[in-house]
Amino acid sequence: MTTTSRSEARRANRPGPRRAPDVEALRADFPILQRTVQGHPLVYLDNAATTQKPRVVIDALRRYYEEINANVHRAVHTLSEQATAAYEGARAKIQRFVNAAEPHEIVFVRGTTEAINLVAQSFARPRLRAGDEILISAMEHHSNIVPWQMVTAERGATLRVIPMDRSGTLLLDQYRDLLTERTRLVALVHVSNSLGARNPVAQMIREAKARGIPVLLDGAQVLGHHRVDVRELGCDFYAFSAHKMFGPTGIGGLYGRAELLEEMPPFQGGGDMIRRVTFQETTYAALPHKFEAGTPSIADAVGFGAAVDYLAGLDRDALEAHEADVVAYAVEQLEALLGVQLIGRPADRTGVVSFIMDCAHAHDVGTIVDQEGVAIRTGHHCTQPVMDFFGVPATCRASFAFYNTRAEVDALVRALARVRKVFA
Ligand code: PMP
Repeated sequence: MTTTSRSEARRANRPGPRRAPDVEALRADFPILQRTVQGHPLVYLDNAATTQKPRVVIDALRRYYEEINANVHRAVHTLSEQATAAYEGARAKIQRFVNAAEPHEIVFVRGTTEAINLVAQSFARPRLRAGDEILISAMEHHSNIVPWQMVTAERGATLRVIPMDRSGTLLLDQYRDLLTERTRLVALVHVSNSLGARNPVAQMIREAKARGIPVLLDGAQVLGHHRVDVRELGCDFYAFSAHKMFGPTGIGGLYGRAELLEEMPPFQGGGDMIRRVTFQETTYAALPHKFEAGTPSIADAVGFGAAVDYLAGLDRDALEAHEADVVAYAVEQLEALLGVQLIGRPADRTGVVSFIMDCAHAHDVGTIVDQEGVAIRTGHHCTQPVMDFFGVPATCRASFAFYNTRAEVDALVRALARVRKVFA
């Protein structure tokens, strides 16, 4: 593509009146999508595990290290001031991206897992008493199960689970019954990484809040696909990972309502999170630094800011419509394939299609399609209770981003036909 046609294409992808996105131009923003795997063009359908990175994010990391690398917050020299401005600037970008009221409502963490552990240890642990309950759902990722098991076991509290049906839809009547005066927190996955179900979180939050129960959402699978306004949703905490939204690994965010974050004790102790330390006593820094002990992932935070800028500069409605079309096409094509069974049929599906084949174990399917250049994930996807519910040891999972195309679904289907030839 020439420079002129690329800039025209880029213009077509900016926010504006709805038109189909120029996906080829967008793909050109992602260097890795140009490579081949096993002699075939890469077909990357493992976006729920991690998304690929656009050149602007890679450049932001490189520029940070080449031009302003220094430790943040603690020096008066120019580099440190520039690094601090870049780090705090990234926080402000993320605040605007999710529409939090204040930058200090965004805590930088390693990712969704650490964000949830922070809430479990700093919010739930001091509040939980014997007999209290925490409510999660049947389709949680292990990172929204295990931290609650740890803290409820320690405090003599109980973990309750909102059930789902075989389509992968949560049973809302049962949810209402599970919200009681014993419930201290609802911790819910916004979009399931193994089923693609988008839960009716706005309604579920309203129902919890009507009873005065705080809500945490696991948004790991959301921000790279859909716009989120944490204030409109009315959640108290929202956990997310940069690497699933075109940013670097090792960085993510916890949105928390300032009022709650203020009340919470620190999660970890060390440098940067203090106001004053003596051997007798320590007072803590203000938000958000109280929760950011030690040298943070500065470059990765800056790269995260670049990813958010990149996303905010695109016509997200058009991308969402395109991705929905590709996912719907994948469902239709996979359903039509002999020997393929979809796992879960959520009415509101986004981003993910899980399936099994009758002729081969998921891992064998994954290995054969990789030989055709197609990257899918196989296994339990850190949702073993979901696998148990459907009675399967593992699934194959194709997961999508806006840069995927119908032609890539066709490549997956051709690769699955090869699996059938090898094993049937
Ligand atoms: N929750 C969900 C729904 C996820 O998909 C993931 C990542 N697979 C996580 C939590 C954990 O995210 P991370 O590994 O980035 O901490």
